Amino acid sequence: MQLNEQQLLNFDRRHIWHPYSAMGSEMPLYAVERAEGVMIHLKDGRKLIDGMSSWWAALHGYNHPRLNAAARRQLEQMSHIMFGGFTHEPAVKLAQKLTALLPPELDKIFYADSGSVAVEVAMKMAVQYQHAKGRRERGKFATIRSGYHGDTWHAMSVCDPLTGMHNLFSHSLPLQYFLPQPPVKFGQAWEEAAILPLADLLEQKQNEIAALILEPVVQGAGGMYFYSPEYLNRAKALCEQYDILLIFDEIATGFGRTGKMFATEYCKITPDIICLGKALTGGYLTLSAAVTQNRIAEAINSGEAKCFMHGPTFMANPLACAIAYESLSLLTEMPWQKTIRAIEAQLKAELAPVADWDCVRELRVLGAIGVIEMKQAVNLASLQPRLVRQGIWLRPFNHLVYLMPPFIIQAEQLSRLTAGTLTALREEYHV
Ligand SMILES: *Cc1c(COP(=O)(O)O)cnc(C)c1O
Repeated sequence: MQLNEQQLLNFDRRHIWHPYSAMGSEMPLYAVERAEGVMIHLKDGRKLIDGMSSWWAALHGYNHPRLNAAARRQLEQMSHIMFGGFTHEPAVKLAQKLTALLPPELDKIFYADSGSVAVEVAMKMAVQYQHAKGRRERGKFATIRSGYHGDTWHAMSVCDPLTGMHNLFSHSLPLQYFLPQPPVKFGQAWEEAAILPLADLLEQKQNEIAALILEPVVQGAGGMYFYSPEYLNRAKALCEQYDILLIFDEIATGFGRTGKMFATEYCKITPDIICLGKALTGGYLTLSAAVTQNRIAEAINSGEAKCFMHGPTFMANPLACAIAYESLSLLTEMPWQKTIRAIEAQLKAELAPVADWDCVRELRVLGAIGVIEMKQAVNLASLQPRLVRQGIWLRPFNHLVYLMPPFIIQAEQLSRLTAGTLTALREEYHV
């Protein structure tokens, strides 16, 4: 028996939580029937152009024939098998693909099941590395403000303390060292003063800090902020001076979104550990990875435990790995740089009018990411239905109205997306 729209919504409201929302919330909620390409089909018959890629993930849109076929092929073999004592082609082929795309030093892969877990894994790697080097007191982490690294315990501890509501968890959350958000924006001339807070912190607290963790170049959910890659070049040099590891969380930025395959490529340096997730499976299934260098893996092996102490039940899930391999094949077969440059140019041109509006603080575009930062937090209860009435799907939060469409979006669809955004905002703010 199929549930009708009203039955779905009614049961959902009474029993099911949604991300960062109140149980029984009266906020707008839409029942989805199916999705194909960049179109999301609602149960009430309306069709929306997707501007979110389901939170950075659905690069190739929905219901892609090649990803579907890869999933079916793998289902006929096995959906899952434990990774303790076994290996399989999906895990190995995906690792081959990833190591070919990543900087050559990053070639030791740990598969995990979600972005947050990959962050936990990277942080544990850093602690085990320091431990193996005889520096047991180095258990803390440094990070920059306005970051977002996930919702599990230690991942949350390095999220921005304000938006991550650290006061709520202050009794049980580990205290980390927070640096100011890098003040030099992407594309601006470097200023030496920007690195001084990090230099000071590492000099003073070198014996406490295992690693510096941050999102390179583009901060995602914590503020959608773009900053100078030179900050990262300098940070790496400082970290090396004290043998503090540098962790890049590329869970949002990975796989072309910023205009490079990885945001790391905007820098002259390579991090010690990189975290991948979100778009890894093209938005089909949850899969993540923490990838590190040989010298880190060797140090961990030489430590007290003689191994790395982590192993999720669904590690290297074959179904997810097979789809991820196909998604990365699709990506590397398409002229993705050209595609993303075209999306970037169109977002810049078509969103440009908002830069003059009183309610807007700043318009920023990088790669296939367009961000309209409002002066005040948006009223989602009123803005969300306006966007849906325009036939588009965006999910603004806080001060941020942002667009990050699937790479397969056609120019004409992207124009409808940007025009719908402008119209909904004009209505909302009486521009
Ligand atoms: C989404 C995100 C995470 C967390 O990933 P989940 O799969 O939601 O656990 C971590 N870091 C960054 C940068 C993210 O954007």
